[in-house]
Amino acid sequence: MALETKDITPAPPVARWHTFTADESLELLQSDPDQGITSQEVAARFERYGANELVEKAGRSSLKIFIDQFTNIMLIMLMAVAVVSAVLDIRDNEFPKDAIAISSIVLLNGILGYMQETNAEKALAALKRMSSPKVRVIRNGEVIEINGKELVPGDVMLLEAGVQIAADGRLLDEQNLQVRESALTGEAEAVNKEAKLVLEEEASLGDRLNCVYQGTEVVQGRAKVLVTKTGMQTELGKIAALIQDVENEDTPLQQRMTQLGNVLVSGSLALVALVVLVGMLNKGNFGDLLKTSLSMAVAVVPEGLPAVVTVTLALGTQRMVRRNALIRRLPAVETLGSVTTICSDKTGTLTQNKMVVQGIRTGLHSLQVTGDGYAPIGKFNVLENSSEDSNFAVNNIPEVQQLLMACVFCNDAILQQKNGEWIIIGDPTEGALLVLASKGGCEAAEWQHRMPRVFEVPFSSERKRMSVLVQGEHGGNVMFCKGSPELTLECCTHIQIGDQIHEIADHQRQNVLTQNNELASRGLRVLGFAYRTFSDLPEGGLTENDESNLIWLGLVGMLDAPRPEVRDAVKRCREAGIRPVMITGDHQLTAKAIAIDLGIAREGDHVLTGRELERMTSEDLDREVNLVNVYARVSPEHKLRIVQALQRQHQFVAMTGDGVNDAPALKQADIGIAMGITGTDVSKEASDMILLDDNFATIVAATEEGRVVYTNIRRFIKYILGSNIGEVITIAAAPMLGLTVPLIPLQILWMNLVTDGLPALALAVEPAEPNVMQRPPVDPRENIFARGMGAYMVRIGIVLAIITIALMAWAHGYTTTHFDEIYNKERWATMVFTTLCLAQMGHAIAIRSNTQLTIELDPRTNLYVWGSVIMTTVLQLVLIYVEPFRNFFGTHLISTTELAVCVGFSSLMFVWIELEKLVIRWWLWKRQA
Ligand code: ATP
Repeated sequence: MALETKDITPAPPVARWHTFTADESLELLQSDPDQGITSQEVAARFERYGANELVEKAGRSSLKIFIDQFTNIMLIMLMAVAVVSAVLDIRDNEFPKDAIAISSIVLLNGILGYMQETNAEKALAALKRMSSPKVRVIRNGEVIEINGKELVPGDVMLLEAGVQIAADGRLLDEQNLQVRESALTGEAEAVNKEAKLVLEEEASLGDRLNCVYQGTEVVQGRAKVLVTKTGMQTELGKIAALIQDVENEDTPLQQRMTQLGNVLVSGSLALVALVVLVGMLNKGNFGDLLKTSLSMAVAVVPEGLPAVVTVTLALGTQRMVRRNALIRRLPAVETLGSVTTICSDKTGTLTQNKMVVQGIRTGLHSLQVTGDGYAPIGKFNVLENSSEDSNFAVNNIPEVQQLLMACVFCNDAILQQKNGEWIIIGDPTEGALLVLASKGGCEAAEWQHRMPRVFEVPFSSERKRMSVLVQGEHGGNVMFCKGSPELTLECCTHIQIGDQIHEIADHQRQNVLTQNNELASRGLRVLGFAYRTFSDLPEGGLTENDESNLIWLGLVGMLDAPRPEVRDAVKRCREAGIRPVMITGDHQLTAKAIAIDLGIAREGDHVLTGRELERMTSEDLDREVNLVNVYARVSPEHKLRIVQALQRQHQFVAMTGDGVNDAPALKQADIGIAMGITGTDVSKEASDMILLDDNFATIVAATEEGRVVYTNIRRFIKYILGSNIGEVITIAAAPMLGLTVPLIPLQILWMNLVTDGLPALALAVEPAEPNVMQRPPVDPRENIFARGMGAYMVRIGIVLAIITIALMAWAHGYTTTHFDEIYNKERWATMVFTTLCLAQMGHAIAIRSNTQLTIELDPRTNLYVWGSVIMTTVLQLVLIYVEPFRNFFGTHLISTTELAVCVGFSSLMFVWIELEKLVIRWWLWKRQA
């Protein structure tokens, strides 16, 4: 029994746990293998040892993150512009206002970038923490599930295949335990562990076969482990700094942005050279030419863009988590929008994973089982003679009785009543079998105590069955086996009918397969049961070879109803040009019945089985892979082949998985998706995204969010770059009209950062367009300028420039005739500046939709756009009408009439874009007609 609380555990001897027996270790940590430790003891130890957490390795230092912001090529160019501008101003004995402003804006951009980057890192770290593993432990004599962080030395932890081990520990008991320790030892091969061993002190980490270590993975088997060390005391903690790589990937989009930056910077440098050269040939003033070029260089760079992109991705992850999709790698946010095929498991993802046994088939009997959920209340009706139902006693049929025993022994789940509700800890398939047994009067706790388990060959998705060996009550041992009916039947040579055991005849085998097909084609999940006896314990424990000469007992069919929301999600997938594919370990008829029900497959469709797949060459599979919607009886390694074949057919694949062996397929898929509830830690570690609710509909929701993110990114890039092009053309046009450069660098920076930046941020949160899931997916390799985007930017840039140049020509003429020389320039230039800014406001409002007119859109769906437009307009007026700002930004007062003219000209931008939408609609309508 666990000891009293007050006597706090002595500090465990350092690193020598492998030299003690299990009992000595229990003694040292004052724990008990069956009871664990008490809650009070847990609290005391938690206080003493702290949380079981690794202290995060410091990533880049704050200073480094800050300095990194200035390595962006566009900011480097702006700094160079600041230097040249300062030199020019000092030469002319002027205050270097532009240089100071540019430097401040570079600095501000750096600070913003720094804040966003650190926030994004924090957000991702928080998301990762949410997916931290759960651990099963025994405390106060009860099996409970806790967060890995809450483990303390002395806890008794239960391990099973797929678990990532959450603390260091000494094995107390194990069944075929294999652990992959590559995270610690670099050794890829899994090692067999043995509780009984006691080792020399010198044994290296890789040789300590009686201990397990944090961060390693259980590949097979199960074990009971005494936690010896937690947190930074673990072996992993010691080398934490080595394995905690802070992931810092650029998303494909960020990479494209860097390329775009390079193009823009080299383009603007070429432009500067050209303007200076042409100007010099025309004997222009070098200083003026340089100023024009500097303005153009500043105008071409979208200073606010990197910040907007980062914010958009961060907001995308937040929206997705609200819809139960937890993003583990940032690129998934935008690439989700490109998914063309979603390969999904059946059990738990397309179905509810709430199993209820519906029927039993033995050699002679067909029974129907009643009852709902996990409450062990229900009856067995004989189908052949339903009038017999009320008095029918299932314990009159020996083979059914034996089958119920198999359900109880071949089982690792626990059925519990909590707050009046029956719940299952463990696999729902096994839980349903406990419920079934209990309905038939066979109580798991009692029988598992009377006939304890000696050995087991655990379940794996490859073998599709499991076996256990239990001590017989009256001597000898009994092995029970359950699993896929076909595979279990193959191991049988006999059949039990009543209390007689006969050699199984061919027609009886055929009968079992027919019964199996009958149950499976109703969409039921069917398991087969068999057993055999051993007079002596098999030497060297139970192995797969012992799964032979079995006696067939019967079949159990359980209902796992499809999730109701999935039908609609499948329909939405199809409309969005995404093909849903079911890949399941279950029987082909079960798979097909559920796939048809959900709309994934149709009646005549071929279901490809794992066996067929094994016989196919890669070329054969390549031919089939675009046609098959349901794969059945597959193993995890088949999943990898399917993803690869789909990818060879240029599909962009999202693939779900939950087991340890699904990890390679998840890594290979373009979007690897792990299950939040049933998924193993290993699969989660390999994934890009985790479904918090294990639900297929969530994948579709995340795909929709991905599309919205990508659409919004394209939208504000169009918006920002269109404006930059307009500015450059306007600046270049001025000298051709015989005018000086109308915009100083400071004003251009203002436009690019504030008057373009704020509305762009608002456009980043634009809600989904109604048809976002009615278009085909975006090609992930698509160039950022594809699908008319480059043309749009150039066209809008030209329209913006034409409007501004027209205004410039008018304003220059008007002010020349009405005002004296000195103020003239600043006055018309201020009108040009204002028109450019206000035209962009019209652009921001109109660009919310590509096809819907602004009056057709509900303004409430994105109040940020309206807010940003109002705010920006007010700020622009402040620059003109508040003296200190006017002085600083080099603007001039303009009259209300002049302002009205600016508003008039700039509104043409809005009108133009709305007209474009009408033309597009007319064209689409004509094409359809
Ligand atoms: P999916 O791949 O869609 O999740 P699945 O749950 O049927 O479907 P697996 O878990 O790989 O896939 O199971 C494959 C088969 O193994 C099942 O169809 C069933 O016949 C058998 N099986 C499943 N769970 C158990 C279990 N706990 N014990 C014995 N056999 C099992």
